[in-house]
Amino acid sequence: MSPRRPFVRVAGAMSIVILPLTGSPGPAFATPPPPNPSDGELAEGRTAVQTAAEQVGVLASRVAAAGAALDAAQLELATKYDNVTVAQRQQKVTRETADAAQAAAESARVEVEAVGAHIQRAQRQVDKFAAASYRQGSAIGSISAYLGAESPKDLLARAELLNAVGGAELDALDTMSRALVDKANLSSAARAAFAEARTRQQQAEEAEAAATAAYETAVAAEAAAQNRAAELLSDQDELEQQLADARRSLAGLQGQRNTFDNWEDAQQATRQAPSQPTQDGESAALTPSPATSGTGQGPGRALAPTTGTITSTYGPRWGSIHYGLDIANSIGTPIVSVLDGRVISSGPASGFGLWVRVRHDNGVVTVYGHINETLVTVGQRVDVGQRIATVGSRGQSTGPHLHFEVHKGGRKIDPLLWLRSNGVSI
Ligand SMILES: [Zn+2]
Repeated sequence: MSPRRPFVRVAGAMSIVILPLTGSPGPAFATPPPPNPSDGELAEGRTAVQTAAEQVGVLASRVAAAGAALDAAQLELATKYDNVTVAQRQQKVTRETADAAQAAAESARVEVEAVGAHIQRAQRQVDKFAAASYRQGSAIGSISAYLGAESPKDLLARAELLNAVGGAELDALDTMSRALVDKANLSSAARAAFAEARTRQQQAEEAEAAATAAYETAVAAEAAAQNRAAELLSDQDELEQQLADARRSLAGLQGQRNTFDNWEDAQQATRQAPSQPTQDGESAALTPSPATSGTGQGPGRALAPTTGTITSTYGPRWGSIHYGLDIANSIGTPIVSVLDGRVISSGPASGFGLWVRVRHDNGVVTVYGHINETLVTVGQRVDVGQRIATVGSRGQSTGPHLHFEVHKGGRKIDPLLWLRSNGVSI
């Protein structure tokens, strides 16, 4: 091996395809290799992006939940505020009604008293007059009543009496008596109305107090929801900043790697190396089995399942193994079958949202997860390069990407390795 190990990607699992070349002496290269970040560094960068993205994703759902809670709290607050307004209006109306009923009852009472007093006075006069005329032993006409007056005061009293007890006045007395009864009835109705209005007013006051208490509770809940949402939003800003930093850093590393790969390709082209380096035990020790072309070049070279940016590769992630290759691209980007084969799954899948699986003629099964839509049906024959789905973000996904897996002999193997060993430059 040359001291700089220009072709060996340092992280074990990633040393592939061109590995056999490094063992051979090879021609001297005209230009020195550009810096090549190790697979470990790239994997670290991807893990950092993935970690940050997942944290942002997790927080985003909490932020969304807090936002929904805040909306609900504000709606509740608005409702409670309206309730208070209605209760206050109701309370005001009932108080005014009760006050008016009280005034009506009071005035009815005063009227009844006045009429009663007037009638009593008139009644007494009639009685007095009747008694006096009985004493004088005669039915007295108006004139004799005047003549019989003992003093000017008496005369005035008699005049008033005569005035009161003239035929028409006696009728009036009668009418007044009947009116008194009517008024008394009205007065008692007014008192009952007043009592009822007061009861309603009290009920309205109680309702208003309850509405006010509920409103105050809603105010406190809304303030708490505001605080919660504000806290989460500030956390989210921080995490998004971290994600942006991680992405920048990964892009830098990836750029270096791309430059290196281009340089490497150029070198390889000038060497006119055999088109398909054979896979052998050299790499098998490091990976489940990168020599997955299996039937060799019989069915032809594979194709990349889609285009885009690799955001995660096969390997440990978040305390478990990520068995796929994640290629990010916008929703709707075409996904093709990497080899000829037959569709064995097409539809919903736990975790992947929606997936397609294809069994290829060499026995390898490829999995296409988080897809937006499937374009094939189970049992359908597909050719290499045939569109089978589009990129989506369904299931447990942090953004639009294809999750691509390769299963061989019942084991999930490194898809990137497999693709590269099948002639896909990705
Ligand atoms: Zn994935």
